Amino acid sequence: MNSQEVFDLYKQCIIDNYGGRVPLVVARGEGSYFWDLDSKRYLDLFPGWGCSAIGHCHPKVVSAVREQVGRLIHMDNTFYTVEQARLAQMISQRSFGGQCFFCNSGAEAVEAAIKLARRATPAGRYKIITMEKSFHGRTYGAMSATAQSKAHTGYEPLLAGFVYVPYNDLAAVEKAIDDETAAILVEPVQGEGGVNIAADGYLAGLRALADRHSLVLIFDEVQTGCGRTGRWFGHQHWSVLPDVMTLAKSLGGGAPIGAIVAKPEVAAAFSPGSHASTYGGNPLVVSAAIATIEAIEEENLLANAEQMGRYARQKADALAEKLDVIAEVRTLGLMIGLELKIPGTQIAADALQAGLRINCTQNTILRMLPAMNITQDQLDEGFEIIQTLLARADERGVS
Ligand code: PLP
Repeated sequence: MNSQEVFDLYKQCIIDNYGGRVPLVVARGEGSYFWDLDSKRYLDLFPGWGCSAIGHCHPKVVSAVREQVGRLIHMDNTFYTVEQARLAQMISQRSFGGQCFFCNSGAEAVEAAIKLARRATPAGRYKIITMEKSFHGRTYGAMSATAQSKAHTGYEPLLAGFVYVPYNDLAAVEKAIDDETAAILVEPVQGEGGVNIAADGYLAGLRALADRHSLVLIFDEVQTGCGRTGRWFGHQHWSVLPDVMTLAKSLGGGAPIGAIVAKPEVAAAFSPGSHASTYGGNPLVVSAAIATIEAIEEENLLANAEQMGRYARQKADALAEKLDVIAEVRTLGLMIGLELKIPGTQIAADALQAGLRINCTQNTILRMLPAMNITQDQLDEGFEIIQTLLARADERGVS
């Protein structure tokens, strides 16, 4: 099939819910690069929207999946598997000693966290406080938790009980708490919302409020989790522990897996039969997740994410000093945001033409989530293209 034939089949047979799908058919990926059907190479600084945490087709993940696929592709939760036990232990040991529930995506993890929080708090407590500009997924609960009207259009009425307050505003959270509040749900760094980073004291303040009012504190670490920020989990930068944490994206190294991790006393509210996912803990994706965690440790990728994050920060700061068009640079490890004074969608599209894949979120924020094994040379390559495009925009002026 050539590219045009693929586009035609999509038009005919696939629901057009992704709006700005780029007319490019991806044929294969390796590390921080992918190639289209015409063998054009692209540097991918936004691999799989943050899912391909250690690059495309990491050899260790490939070989783990190959080995697993010939032994046991799927086994349901009627039984036990070694793989699920191992992955849960690995996550638990690297976080706060919690217990896992496995599912298939970030939204499902958020959904599970919402359900768990309601069950873990007394009857009548059902409200969950979430933050403006948050993004938690597209299922009904996760969508209702997402405090952005653009995600809700046409889907009302939403799931009841979500109360939205501004991010990084402790007083607003305190004001929103009442006798019906069950939980607070927050991203340590808002990703889709624009790489908005928790201010010092914010997560600790939420922890204190949750403790004072007996609320479940949920950190949505779907994007910040599993090494992305240079620590295993985003909250470890602030040494504040949640009661429940959601994971997905980086966890599977490109394989579709989600999870929640909950303190045992909270996790106990999910009594047998109260929640489930047929594919949850599927051995194929679990083996990919185990291989991803092992590769991160064997290749020292937490340190690399931290160092390359710092390097990218320096490059972005240097650009911001030169170019009026950049309003602000926000980074934590390899979550990188360049807020522009102009719309950024066309810049991201031009970058792709030039062989670089980045993202634009919230209309003005150029966003990158590079693989944790990104190199200095690759960041140089990417920033070179960004600099050229932004310098051109700068010459056109900010108006
Ligand atoms: N939570 C956060 C913080 C996210 O960034 C996302 C996706 O971008 C989700 C949840 C939803 O994850 P998924 O798309 O895997 O359902």
